[in-house]
Amino acid sequence: LTQLFRPLDMLGMVYRTIRQGLIDMAAMFKLIDTDLEVADAPGAPALVIRRPTVAFDNVVFGYEPERTILHGLSFEVSAGAQVAIVGPSGAGKSTIARLLFRFYDPWSGRVLIDGQDISQVTQASLRAAIGIVPQDSVLFNDTIGYNIAYGRDGATREDIVRAAQGAAIMPFIERLPQGFDTEVGERGLKLSGGEKQRVAIARTLVKDPPILLLDEATSALDSRTEQDILATLHRVSEHRTSLSIAHRLSTIADADQILVLDHGRLAEQGTHAGLLRRDGLYAEMWNRQQAERDDLTEAAE
Ligand code: ATP
Repeated sequence: LTQLFRPLDMLGMVYRTIRQGLIDMAAMFKLIDTDLEVADAPGAPALVIRRPTVAFDNVVFGYEPERTILHGLSFEVSAGAQVAIVGPSGAGKSTIARLLFRFYDPWSGRVLIDGQDISQVTQASLRAAIGIVPQDSVLFNDTIGYNIAYGRDGATREDIVRAAQGAAIMPFIERLPQGFDTEVGERGLKLSGGEKQRVAIARTLVKDPPILLLDEATSALDSRTEQDILATLHRVSEHRTSLSIAHRLSTIADADQILVLDHGRLAEQGTHAGLLRRDGLYAEMWNRQQAERDDLTEAAE
């Protein structure tokens, strides 16, 4: 990963946002050994977003030639919609996120943002348009203010404060003797999982991207903290298009649209209520998770 970032570093400040995106992506998808496989098309224009729609158009993709992972996947996400991607382990949920961030290009088919094929625009403009909130964010060994400001070049103190407020981490920062100048990371103050995630949310707010990729994977957070963070994420997602990779279905029941993936194919799509009525894979997953929860509650009693 260090090797991957060194050349980007040399290209200067413009790439800070991308680099953070890549670090967050790496944290999100454990991509440590992955190298970028894509390049800008010659003379590629920047992505221009008027309406942040996202579409997969008959996307076929695999990591290795002999193993297809996505088998002609198509779906559309309208601007401002909150979409959840669910499905059994290995179904291809993270693969969708990786293709959207253009870690890889599809074998065939297209990934479109506001009607533009993302393989035909600059990677810098693509990655600037997408904010990522991974489950386990990576912080730099620097001040908490720096870690938030990293979301965008030229962020002012006012931007940082507003972002910290939006991410509901301001009360915590205000209690620190050195406030925003507190050193965090390995050599500084150790933050809890929830606090780190709020820093990641604040960083995303500073970046102010029209599209959000969220990872609501099974978390190490206690359930109260998790509920609080989810509420913050929902607030942050308003007025943006968001795609959440969800493991626990209870967290996404109010999504505008749920995409149910199975073995790299779209098995079902709809709202929570509609999918329950359908009584297919989603209903089965929902009932199983409810039963597990009931078991847990009983065991605790
Ligand atoms: P989970 O819920 O377990 O995180 P997922 O639905 O996000 O699963 P993906 O991570 O998209 O699933 O993986 C889909 C398939 O692609 C899996 O079979 C996985 O083994 C395979 N895969 C993922 N990353 C790679 C890679 N870098 N190289 C080869 N195969 C991969």
